[in-house]
Amino acid sequence: MPESMPSACRVCGGVEGARHPVGDGDHAWHCDRCGWRVGDAPDADLPTPRVSVVYYLRYAQRVKIGTSATPRARLAAIRHEELLAFEQGGRDLEQQRHRQFAALREGGEWFTLAAPLVDHIESLRTGRDPWATYDRWLGDALRARSS
Ligand SMILES: [Zn+2]
Repeated sequence: MPESMPSACRVCGGVEGARHPVGDGDHAWHCDRCGWRVGDAPDADLPTPRVSVVYYLRYAQRVKIGTSATPRARLAAIRHEELLAFEQGGRDLEQQRHRQFAALREGGEWFTLAAPLVDHIESLRTGRDPWATYDRWLGDALRARSS
């Protein structure tokens, strides 16, 4: 069961976690949201890891398929009604999706929300908030770098 942690997670700002053994009989808090070991590195001056994603943003019956390494800032600048999903990847994956769904293209990066795009987005959805999934990838990237 997640509990309130003594300090917020420095990766994602999460406030709930669980204590897990970390060897030598010690325990450490692990953020429930992104999996980061709270209270450990990163140093304040360690650069935040970047995880590039392809995003699927819905506005009415259209979906914008784009990519960003800083999705929080990027999505804040795009008018949309709903973030449908994220997929880990950059420009290559974005271009691949644009080709894959070319028949649905309305112009620019906007596509009609219809099959087979609906099915693809459905396959990416995990039942969690896409931002929780993104924060988990950030935590994974940090752990990979610090090990
Ligand atoms: Zn976290």
